[in-house]
Amino acid sequence: MSNELDQETLALHTGIHRSQFNEHSEAMYLTSSYIFESAAQAAARFAGEEPGNIYSRFTNPTVTAMEERLAALEGAEACIATSTGMSAILSCVMGLLSAGDHIVASRSLFGATVNLFNNILKRFEIETTFVSATDVSEWDAAIRPGTKLLFLETPSNPLTEISDIAALSVLAKKTDAWLVVDNCFCSPILQNPLQLGADVVIHSATKYLDGQGRVMGGAVLGNRDLLMDGGIFGFLRTAGPTLSAFNAWVILKGMETLKIRMDAHTTHAMEIAQWLERQPDISRVYYPGLPSHPQYELAQRQQKTGGGIVSFEVKGGKEAAWRVIDNTRLISITANLGDAKSTLTHPATTTHSRISQEARDQAGITDGLLRIAVGLESPKDIKADLVRGLL
Ligand SMILES: *Cc1c(COP(=O)(O)O)cnc(C)c1O
Repeated sequence: MSNELDQETLALHTGIHRSQFNEHSEAMYLTSSYIFESAAQAAARFAGEEPGNIYSRFTNPTVTAMEERLAALEGAEACIATSTGMSAILSCVMGLLSAGDHIVASRSLFGATVNLFNNILKRFEIETTFVSATDVSEWDAAIRPGTKLLFLETPSNPLTEISDIAALSVLAKKTDAWLVVDNCFCSPILQNPLQLGADVVIHSATKYLDGQGRVMGGAVLGNRDLLMDGGIFGFLRTAGPTLSAFNAWVILKGMETLKIRMDAHTTHAMEIAQWLERQPDISRVYYPGLPSHPQYELAQRQQKTGGGIVSFEVKGGKEAAWRVIDNTRLISITANLGDAKSTLTHPATTTHSRISQEARDQAGITDGLLRIAVGLESPKDIKADLVRGLL
């Protein structure tokens, strides 16, 4: 499908391969294997001499459709879908790295990513140095012989710190390392890291791509040589963290409304963030769309909007923050994000509870901090739900 089409059009019309029935909506192919026309064809498929499906651990038509659609939205040459966002990250590092290699990563990463890098990869002699999300000179200083991967998430969770993708891509090229960006918070609608010089983009499709909190999924995107010959696809088809056809179909259909959902998430989040800034009980609001954000200018340059996630600090610490949570009637108390329904969480006692108090204090994740993933409800109703727990 032509890349001259806009994203909302691509999201509806890419990855369609109609069957003999000429169905309008995408069919779902629940099959684990595929029949060959002859022994010779089977041999040719296995030898890689003829394209086509063999076994759904490797490829499946519904999964391929989802991959083509997401690749079109990210402006990527290739996409490999995975069972979860975490297995996308795992496939990327297992596909690209070997024992003795070194990763430089932002300190502000999704908790499970930190655990993977810090505890699991370390057992396989892949070490990670964690640095500031925002200070490029710290990344530069952490580079050493064997540094193969720079890994970041922007905006970060929960403090919405912005990493400079273009500046870090220059450093990655100089180092001969790959720059990998977890683009979960923005989705391909608000930010396209490959266009800013990143080598690989990761998605947790569990979040905005599905958008309605139904299924788990993930994806690795980048150029075809790196993904297909660089070992990432080889890891997936061998180790098997494959996306199921059903989940691929749900995500494929979810992407049809991604643009209008991201637009609405953004407008609602902006309204909530501006309102929160005016509340006397709130000492600080973290939202990249606000001029008060320390990296407002970089965010303006790098992402189309501030996105759907707002964090804010309630005066009075944990007790006051929990009061806001416990007085909600509409907003879901859950650590998930990217859902049509608004979700609210207290990072210090949930998503970031396993890191030490000292590390939390250093990172600015205070006991009064709350994170709301603003949903598609009317902003007026969301505000009314939050205000009940404020003094
Ligand atoms: C949720 C999330 C992940 C992990 O995705 P799963 O689908 O839960 O495995 C990775 N990165 C970020 C930023 C996330 O929010």
